[in-house]
Amino acid sequence: MSQTTCTLSPPKRLLMGPGPSMVEPRVYAAMAQPIVGHLDPYFFQISEEIRGLLATAFGTSNQFTMAISGTGSAGMEACVSNFVEDGSKMAVLANGFFCDRLSELGRRQGASVVRLEKPWGEVFDAGEARDFIKREKPGVVAYVMAETSTGAVQPGKAICEAAHEVGALVVADCVTALGTMPCNLDETGIDAAYSCTQKGLGAPPGLAPVSISPRAPETLRGRTTSHKSWYFDLKLLDEYYGSAHRYHHTAPISMFYALREALEIIREEGLPARFARHERNHKAFVAGLEAMGLRMFVAPQHRMWALNTPCVPEGVTDLAIRKRLMDGDGIEILGGFGPLAGKVFRIGIMGAGSREENVLLLLDRMESALRAEGFTPRSNGVEAARAFYSA
Ligand SMILES: *Cc1c(COP(=O)(O)O)cnc(C)c1O
Repeated sequence: MSQTTCTLSPPKRLLMGPGPSMVEPRVYAAMAQPIVGHLDPYFFQISEEIRGLLATAFGTSNQFTMAISGTGSAGMEACVSNFVEDGSKMAVLANGFFCDRLSELGRRQGASVVRLEKPWGEVFDAGEARDFIKREKPGVVAYVMAETSTGAVQPGKAICEAAHEVGALVVADCVTALGTMPCNLDETGIDAAYSCTQKGLGAPPGLAPVSISPRAPETLRGRTTSHKSWYFDLKLLDEYYGSAHRYHHTAPISMFYALREALEIIREEGLPARFARHERNHKAFVAGLEAMGLRMFVAPQHRMWALNTPCVPEGVTDLAIRKRLMDGDGIEILGGFGPLAGKVFRIGIMGAGSREENVLLLLDRMESALRAEGFTPRSNGVEAARAFYSA
């Protein structure tokens, strides 16, 4: 008989960075279940369950909702590559790293990319977004709902309205938003949304949830050039996951099990309760940070709940703090990059990791690390967070 215990023993980490985040134990259990074939009726049953659960989490009735093989960036590539082509125009509301990646993908697909720029951490107001879109009249408008490089949330309603007035489709990056805050695709008017499994959903990286509005397939039919990507061709993917069940590629079965279980956990918790949990733990964490004398980088009304960007205090390097957290307790947080290199910490309190005990532990260990690096906290962060929780 073959052995059933494996020979790996990865180090124990508390993942509190921008992702991957902590994985629910039930999700690991799901991944250990025996696989079936990629054309097995059981696989299609699971992928149908995923379709329904994902649509709920995205806030949409889009039938065209599925998990694409690959990480969040695969979702990005699918959403961009299907809707732009040589000579088309793509407008990007650019206020962070993932907006830059969107622009790069658009350029690689032959689109002419026009950008409205904002400093990282700021968001576009309705008027400036509308003026830009009306002036440029693009075929596709892209924005990032929750910018994991900065910690800011971009409202989408005005973007979508202006885009539809000029006949453009809206692509929205919901990578860190999905499962941590309302995405409201239908109400907002988003035409193509993508996400990942390893941030707000509580599963490992490996799949990219994607949802496409009924408006978008018309654009696919109206393409004048054939899609350059075969793997991400949504028409072919729909023939696999949709009713035809025609072989396209071998879906990563274990990841489908993982996603199905993660979404089931979300269904059991309920979206309103889940969002409230994220908001509460975020606010408790901020109360603790501010009590210690740290300043948040993003203005209060634009902050994401899932990803916190406190500024690195004067005289301290983010690397030294991160090393102390990792060496001491195996806690992973990350620093800023690009224009925010050395300026902020990026701390994820998301998915399965968004828990009171994690908030308190992190504040306690950050306080020790800051002291050890010569920064004297103004008051006790853990006490301030506790006071928030019991208020
Ligand atoms: C992480 C992330 C991505 C890329 O996802 P991968 O899973 O790393 O490919 C894209 N957009 C945002 C906002 C992200 O946070």
